[in-house]
This record gives sequence, structure tokens and C-alpha cells, in this order.
Amino acid sequence: MGKKELEKYQELLIKEKERILEDIEGLEENNKSGSIQDRTGDISRMSTHPADRVADSMELEQSYSIATMEGEILYLIDEALSRIKVGSFGKCMVCGKKIAEKRLEAIPYTKLCLDCQRDAESEEV
Ligand SMILES: [Zn+2]
Repeated sequence: MGKKELEKYQELLIKEKERILEDIEGLEENNKSGSIQDRTGDISRMSTHPADRVADSMELEQSYSIATMEGEILYLIDEALSRIKVGSFGKCMVCGKKIAEKRLEAIPYTKLCLDCQRDAESEEV
């Protein structure tokens, strides 16, 4: 992959990272009304609460899973940025083949080619 292309992906990755960091800040703002620790305590005692509390904690769980997912993506972005530095960016970590550029443009932090991604997903099921 040429230097220009690498720079393009690096820019994409940095932009994506900034977007996620802003998102996470937004989620933290939303959670300020009750501190995360207090509300986590609620979840562990959930079974003794009436049904209306369930909906409340489901909503919280959803924002948690978004935060977890975004944290994972941040990690993947950092990995991809360091792969750009060492020159292994754009190669599948499993089979070593080049990852299709269309795929990289859509998910610049991916480390698997489409085939290996499919394999990985079918193993999870
Ligand atoms: Zn592969």
C-alpha cells in the first residue's frame, strides 16, 4: 500500500477516534444524574425491584454496551494506527492476505479480511 493511501487511512482512523471520544463524553454526561457506581448497585439488586426498574436498568445497560463497544473500537483504532507505523496495515491478521480497500474504507480499523471475519463470526455462534 502506498504512502498516500496509508495517510488517507490514518486520517480516517484519527477522525473516527475523535468521533468516538466525543460520543463517550456524551454518554458520561447522560449518566451524571446518578453516578455510575450507584446505578450499577441497582442492577445487582434488580431481582427484588418492581418491573418498572427493569426498563430503567435495561436502558442503562444499553448505554454501557455502547460504551464498551466504543472502547473496543478505540482499542482497534490504536492498533490500526500502530500497524500503519510498522507497515503491516491492510493485511489480514489471520491469513495475511490484503484486506479489500472497500472494506478498509468502511471499517479502517478492521484487522481481518472479509472471509476471516465471517469465520470468526460463525465460530461465535
Ligand atoms: Zn483473512
